[in-house]
Amino acid sequence: MNSLRRISSWEGHIPKGIEFLAGDLLKDESLPKSWLKALLEDPGRELFCDIDGRWINRGEFLARSHDAACAMHASGLSRGERILMSAAASIGGLVHYVGALRLGLVVVPMNTSYTKTEVFHIVGDVKPSAAIVDSDERAEWIVEAAKQPGFSTPFLGPGADLPLPRGDLQVYFADKSYAHCTDCAAQLDMAQSGTPALIAYTSGTTGRPKGAILTHGNLLASAKSLNMAWRWDERDRLVLALPLFHMHGLGVGVNGTLCAGSSAVLSDRFDPERVCQAVTDYSASMFFGVPTMYQRLLELECLEPFRSLRLMVSGSAPLSRETHRAMEERSGQTVLERYGTTESLIDISNPFEGERIAGKVGFPLPGVEAAISADRSELFISGPTVFSGYLNDPAATAAAFPNGDGWFATGDVGDVDERGYVAIAGRLKELIISGGYNVYPKEVEDVLRSHPAVRDAAVVGVESTRWGEEVVAFVVKGSDLREEELKAHALLHLANYKRPKRIFFVDEFPRNALGKVISAELRSAAASMR
Ligand code: AMP
Repeated sequence: MNSLRRISSWEGHIPKGIEFLAGDLLKDESLPKSWLKALLEDPGRELFCDIDGRWINRGEFLARSHDAACAMHASGLSRGERILMSAAASIGGLVHYVGALRLGLVVVPMNTSYTKTEVFHIVGDVKPSAAIVDSDERAEWIVEAAKQPGFSTPFLGPGADLPLPRGDLQVYFADKSYAHCTDCAAQLDMAQSGTPALIAYTSGTTGRPKGAILTHGNLLASAKSLNMAWRWDERDRLVLALPLFHMHGLGVGVNGTLCAGSSAVLSDRFDPERVCQAVTDYSASMFFGVPTMYQRLLELECLEPFRSLRLMVSGSAPLSRETHRAMEERSGQTVLERYGTTESLIDISNPFEGERIAGKVGFPLPGVEAAISADRSELFISGPTVFSGYLNDPAATAAAFPNGDGWFATGDVGDVDERGYVAIAGRLKELIISGGYNVYPKEVEDVLRSHPAVRDAAVVGVESTRWGEEVVAFVVKGSDLREEELKAHALLHLANYKRPKRIFFVDEFPRNALGKVISAELRSAAASMR
């Protein structure tokens, strides 16, 4: 049993004059009920804009999601069945997403760049009855994967009470429209807060992706909490260039927009110029991105258009102090950094009002409880946003809740300062033990990045007969730099055991779709380059 030290609460996020009760986050019960409430008002108001500049208003969107739900019901799908979603951001894709949730289906976002092998893994794990896609090739892979032997065999886990697949997988193309349905027998918008809404796969940078089962209550509480903390309301317009197979794009961007009754401009991929243009063309008020997106925005000649935004948010990976500072200098925006995981959604955030500190992720969001374990300084989260378990993986589920009391062990090491701000030191799995001492890669990376000729750094631990593990650095240069110079810089700022024993200069790091460095690939590259 880990003893936990609670981190101070969420008061700093609550607008003045508002009395907040955590139960308020779940008042609407489910995502569709909350969305209907927001969207039924003023149906002519703009909601989503596609990359080609075409808008859909609230009324049309609700009607099309209703028709999509009726079409899914007419083809035999019923509440609790699972539907994969593997499509770039588009109005049609979102119509199907919302239609599926209104019918009570469980949506499984799947990375659009997965290879056939990865698609087979997810399909075999999820056993979906249907899929929403925007590519013939992916449709073929999914249909083929669903013909695997044993596809319809029952499986164990928190999803075991869901209906079994029926063997005839339905494919819906994101751009398809349906005839208006006036006499549908489907019962829509019936989900309760405990009903599963999504099975979200973790990005698997440290292991095989696992499917986290998220309920309507989890997702609703998270979106509502962010709406409040970031003062996000119907006047806002988000430029959304994040992929929708990750909770940053879907759980924050899409669900948050629909809960707030605001609007969003969708982009099927991230392109710095396109984002900059969209901010101006559509008078956007917000942009949410991952740190690599901010690094790429900084490559633009002019960041002036971003001055007009109300809020820029970064999350999903650590934002370096250098990037934070450069954004502030060049765009006037103090990026608000926040922290979350697929399993517990968004948990900790710098404040909208109050100081946003570079290198810190802030304090717990409204409704979220956070604590640090006494033994390993691991960050634990509990509250309405925390998932119920992994699909088909009771062992991983038990490991995620080691105390058996609803506190989720994030696997991240956290440090809290006297003002209650949390800093993420790194992932426990990536902790390097060199000569018996603990080294957090992030600390070494921060020092290397502070050298003016270093554009970026990634540090891993590699097995060593002498040290147990040795610290190895991969560095992308911004200008001329010799290894000895960088070693001299490390000598000034890092204790002996933290200094990289080997440094490799590379052009770029292997990254996943969210821009996170895939450290397993760096470790094996370092091991093979002895
Ligand atoms: P995912 O489940 O793909 O969203 O990954 C969650 C992990 O991303 C967390 O466990 C952290 O290791 C990392 N992460 C997310 N946000 C931040 C942040 N602001 N700073 C540092 N690490 C972060």
